[in-house]
Amino acid sequence: MADYDVLVVGAGLAGMRAALAAQERGAKVAVLSKVHPVRSHSNAAQGGINAALTDRGDDWQDHGYETVKGSDYLGDQDAIEVLAQEAGREIIALEHMGVIFSRGEDGRLGTRRFGGQQRARTFFVSDFTGQAMLHVMFEQVLRAGVEVLDEWFVTSLVVEEGRCAGVVAIELRTGKLHLLRAKAVIIATGGLGRVFEPSTNGLICTGDGMSLAYRAGVPLMDMEMVQYHPTTLKGNGLLMTEAARGEGAYLLNSKGERFMERYAPTMKELASRDVVSRAEQTEINEGRGVDGCVFLDCRHLGKKFILERLHQVYEEGKAFANVDITEQPIPIRPGMHYQMGGIKTDVDGRCWDMKKRWRGVPGLFAAGEAACVSLHGGNRLGANSLLDTVVFGRRAGHCAAEYASQEPLKTVSQARLAHEEERIHALLSRNSSGDSVAKIRLEMGQSMNEHLAVFRNQEGMETALRKVRELRQRYDRVGVRDRGRIFNMGLVFALELGAMLDCAEAITVGALERKESRGAHFRTDMPERDDEHWLKHVLVYHTLEGPPRIDTLPVTITRWQPQKRVY
Ligand SMILES: Cc1cc2nc3c(=O)[nH]c(=O)nc-3n(C[C@H](O)[C@H](O)[C@H](O)COP(=O)(O)OP(=O)(O)OC[C@H]3O[C@@H](n4cnc5c(N)ncnc54)[C@H](O)[C@@H]3O)c2cc1C
Repeated sequence: MADYDVLVVGAGLAGMRAALAAQERGAKVAVLSKVHPVRSHSNAAQGGINAALTDRGDDWQDHGYETVKGSDYLGDQDAIEVLAQEAGREIIALEHMGVIFSRGEDGRLGTRRFGGQQRARTFFVSDFTGQAMLHVMFEQVLRAGVEVLDEWFVTSLVVEEGRCAGVVAIELRTGKLHLLRAKAVIIATGGLGRVFEPSTNGLICTGDGMSLAYRAGVPLMDMEMVQYHPTTLKGNGLLMTEAARGEGAYLLNSKGERFMERYAPTMKELASRDVVSRAEQTEINEGRGVDGCVFLDCRHLGKKFILERLHQVYEEGKAFANVDITEQPIPIRPGMHYQMGGIKTDVDGRCWDMKKRWRGVPGLFAAGEAACVSLHGGNRLGANSLLDTVVFGRRAGHCAAEYASQEPLKTVSQARLAHEEERIHALLSRNSSGDSVAKIRLEMGQSMNEHLAVFRNQEGMETALRKVRELRQRYDRVGVRDRGRIFNMGLVFALELGAMLDCAEAITVGALERKESRGAHFRTDMPERDDEHWLKHVLVYHTLEGPPRIDTLPVTITRWQPQKRVY
């Protein structure tokens, strides 16, 4: 048994930023990750990170307002104010850590314009911003001497007397199960993209941490808010970064029309993502697409510029669609990209409410895409997620260290470990007569993508819920062929699928609950936003017996009253 002050689950940007912050405050910290830290999905972020820097004549209030409008007024404004106000110092801190941001002609940090924003305030490193940030963050973690347990898979949280007391994890290279005690645990396990098929997310984005927290008693909030990105590649769903449109690329339909002029006359291609995705899907549904797609046209940007600023997009086009974007438009369509909802936290990452308006678990914290501080509400602005990971990763790290300094380690019975050992053993020794993990995973992903995409309706969502529940029953009989313990990836995939089914159910139940259209949740049977009844968050609690329990929570409004949302 190993003991820590703060244990961070997840070594993406949020997890490593949190670990550094906690260590800085004198806590004994370890970070666990199911893959090597630099293979986390943060590595795939291309376009950039937002901040309103005053010396550029920008104003955090504009960034805040545009984030609120982007969220379709569902984001909590106290949290958004923190995000926008603390963004600048975080960019400078990243620069000082060693992130080599791309520069403008004048030699100062360069910016590009991202969707839903009037101003160019997205800082970037060519089109591999996440990779540049993640590698630097990992260097900083090594430099600070934070203990890194990579290729460790967390299977459950330990809760003693209502407080989080540690985790149980598999050390993948030996298959041995460990009980790790901690005074505070921070979940930074990223998103759940792969609950949908296809998705822009890495195969490891399976919502593990959301399921861990949910099963431990913390509500998942705004899970119905699933972002479909407007430009994902035909076929495999690979992301073509928003930076392409930010740098001036257009969208065209089969008639060669720049159709966004009709849907968003002012912002056109740079309206918010939900708006652009719906416009594309409408064009496709009304017969102005080609083979289920519309086109992204970059030709006018010129080869030199594309190779310098959009090199990955260029390479991806060639490798995966056989299209040279300097010469031809590339077929794209809306695809699952990001989960706005997640583990309910306050602005310091706490998964419990000091005012007791919602129930959670003291000692547990969350940050990054796994968490729902409620910044993104119904729709996240591009380049606000990397910002979310560093600002709220840091805040969660600081708060967890402080919490840990006042808490004793709890006694944890070895029975916890034995219980988890038994669960894994049962899974491994089950006779695999039924479905494979892969089959259930694919059926779930396809059903979610069919019924919980850009356009939704009651009947479709009910079909998806029935499907998820049927798959859950089939999952309970699923077996793992590899019975060995060393690097048993079959076991990992089976455990991940369990988490994904929890997430799929929470998304569907949340979506059925919300009887209006807002942000990414657009119901063709209820197409209007209804502030009178639905200006509130949907919380989904796990129950031991029966379906999840639903609750709601008011939206925090500080300075921006809801308005009609036009771009
Ligand atoms: C293709 C792509 C491009 C994007 N581009 C941008 C962009 O340009 N700008 C922007 O702002 N946002 C972008 N995003 C979104 C953004 O990158 C992510 O939301 C963000 O990086 C998530 O960071 P994270 O630290 O929360 O999680 P991740 O980086 O996903 O890290 C999760 C960590 O948790 C660990 N983990 C998970 N489950 C377990 C478990 N059971 N046990 C142990 N460890 C576990 C993983 O190993 C990993 O280390 C993009 C996303 C994608 C998919």
